[in-house]
Amino acid sequence: MASSSGIMFRSMSGRTALKLFGPNSKVQIRFRSLVIPIHRKPLAKYGGRHTVTVLPGDGIGPEMMAHLKRIFTFAHVPVDFEVLDIGSRDLSDSALDNAIIAIERNGVALKGNIETKFDDPQFKSRNMELRRRLDLFANILHCKTVPTIPVRHKEIDIVLIRENTEGEYSGIEHQSVKGVVESIKVVTRQKIEQIATLAFDFALANNRKKITAIHKANIQKLGDGLFLKVCREMAETKYKDVKFEHMIVDNASMQLVSRPEQFNGGILLMPNLYGNIISNIACGLVGGPGLVSGMNLGKKYAVFETGTRNTGTSIAGKDVANPTAFIQAAIDMLRYVDEPLHADRLTTALYNTLIVKKIHTADIGGTAKTSEIIEGVIDELKQIFDKEHVHYF
Ligand code: ATP
Repeated sequence: MASSSGIMFRSMSGRTALKLFGPNSKVQIRFRSLVIPIHRKPLAKYGGRHTVTVLPGDGIGPEMMAHLKRIFTFAHVPVDFEVLDIGSRDLSDSALDNAIIAIERNGVALKGNIETKFDDPQFKSRNMELRRRLDLFANILHCKTVPTIPVRHKEIDIVLIRENTEGEYSGIEHQSVKGVVESIKVVTRQKIEQIATLAFDFALANNRKKITAIHKANIQKLGDGLFLKVCREMAETKYKDVKFEHMIVDNASMQLVSRPEQFNGGILLMPNLYGNIISNIACGLVGGPGLVSGMNLGKKYAVFETGTRNTGTSIAGKDVANPTAFIQAAIDMLRYVDEPLHADRLTTALYNTLIVKKIHTADIGGTAKTSEIIEGVIDELKQIFDKEHVHYF
């Protein structure tokens, strides 16, 4: 049945079951095996293909994007890369503006990390500006131990949800008199409610048993106090079925490295800066910066990158970086644009390369080069296509 807002399917009972497309139709967002409790509007698809903004960034970013392009081309993934350079080679405001316009147009981006110079106080982090101007209010990571990757703590499974646009990252700093600097942390009830709602809905949608809010409300009584108050209010009023706890950030850091299993099956809900630090600890627990991908999500756009957001400048061009986190980010992006078949194929190819064949780079105790993992993935894709009787050329 056609309607002005798309095609409807009717269930046996005659009730409308699904709207396929149209101005009011919405797509359920998936992140790995998890459901994100936000729907997105359909993205523009020209000739059946998606256009994704690609920001290679600095360090290992450009070589990783080249590898992804090769994998996508081999696997006939219907995604075109619109590449824009806003790395340290072009730090102009117009480059940043163009990148933002491109993401607004395409709705989705894949991104390497952009180096931020320490020595110019006027220069705003490009990474931060993107997240702020596109209102990518949530950063979501799933830190889960990967079989065959050597780690100290077995069986980690923690989701991290971090506020991504305010707090210490507001970038408001000044030197009132020489030797005295004021650095302003801005937090708002609106943003805290937004991130907490996402976390609680996420817990319900994915049956995650507990939310732990991380804060330093014993010292930052107003700012972190508000964060804790809002999270607690929501737990007590709207989300009584989700177990809620809170933990001071220093203790949470210690607990994560000594007894991380206590957070298994749960969600860490964090303001911006603590979220950055805790995310790096959690990624370290499951194998380091080369393994975990991260999703930056807003109401309108999504940007996919690595979980720890490193540039890897010291290992760039050496064919040693672990490409897994970038491949995972690309898979997350494919799920977001609703290409589950391609996402599943790539997941299987990566799984077989990394876990079945144990092709590991040096960061996780192996000797393989980046290119050997990429070849491994392409080899696995060939076998998947053979099994599916798809003819590749
Ligand atoms: P920078 O000069 O920007 O600090 P770096 O390479 O010295 O660059 P980071 O980018 O902060 O440092 O990365 C932190 C550490 O993680 C480095 O030791 C880096 O080599 C390592 N690292 C980052 N990404 C990867 C990756 N994909 N594979 C393996 N190691 C990585």
